[in-house]
Amino acid sequence: MTLQDISARLSAAERAANRAPGSVDLIAVSKVQPDSRVRDVLVEGHRSFGENRVQEAMGKWPGFRDEFAGVTLHLIGPLQTNKARQAVELFDVIHTLDRPKLAQTLARLAQERGQSPDVFIQINTGAEPQKAGILPESADSFIAEVRALNLPLLGLMCIPPVEEDAAQHFEMLAKIAARNDLSGLSMGMSDDFETAVAHGATHIRVGSAIFGARISPH
Ligand SMILES: *Cc1c(COP(=O)(O)O)cnc(C)c1O
Repeated sequence: MTLQDISARLSAAERAANRAPGSVDLIAVSKVQPDSRVRDVLVEGHRSFGENRVQEAMGKWPGFRDEFAGVTLHLIGPLQTNKARQAVELFDVIHTLDRPKLAQTLARLAQERGQSPDVFIQINTGAEPQKAGILPESADSFIAEVRALNLPLLGLMCIPPVEEDAAQHFEMLAKIAARNDLSGLSMGMSDDFETAVAHGATHIRVGSAIFGARISPH
C-alpha cells in the first residue's frame, strides 16, 4: 500500500458513506518509521501526521517542519503529565486526554501560553483494564469538566479492543459524541478505517498501511 492507495480508499469510503470529499482527515502515523519513509510521504505533499511518543516526535519533527511548511502534528499516544509542556509546544492536536489531572495541567499551560492544542478525549469503549481512556459511563461528566476548563475540545477518540468487532465501538463513540454535541471522531486505523468512516470518523489514524510494517510496533 502507498499513500495514494490509502487516499483513494478513503475517498471511496467517503463517497459510500455520503460524506463530503475530503471531510475525513487522514493522519499518517509515522511512529517508529525510518525518516526516509516519512520524508517520502512529506514529499508527496501529505501534511497531517501522528506520533505516539513525545520524545520520539521531538527528535524528528522540528527538523521536518523547517523543511516542509504546513505540517499538522497529532499526538495519539498516552501523555504523561510531566511531558505535557513539551507536548503542547510541539503538537497541534492531542487525541489522548484521558484523566482529570492531565486536563488541569493542559488548562494551566493554555492559560500561561495563551494558546492550546485542540484536544480529543480518549474513551475506553471496551472498558479494558490495561487501556487508557475514560470509561463510557464517566464520559458525559468528564466532557463537562473539560469544557469547564475552556480547553478547545474537538471530540472523542477510541482504540477498540483487538479481538472485537470495531464497528460496535465506533457506534458507541459516535453516540456519546452526538449526545454531547461534539463533532470530532478520531477512530479507525489501517485495518478498519473504512468502517470508521461509515460510522462518522472525522480523523482516521493510519500507520502501517501507508508506511509498511513497523520494525518494533508500539
Ligand atoms: C499505531 C497507532 C495507530 C496506527 O496503527 P496502524 O494499525 O499501523 O494503522 C493508530 N492509532 C494509535 C493510537 C496508534 O498507537
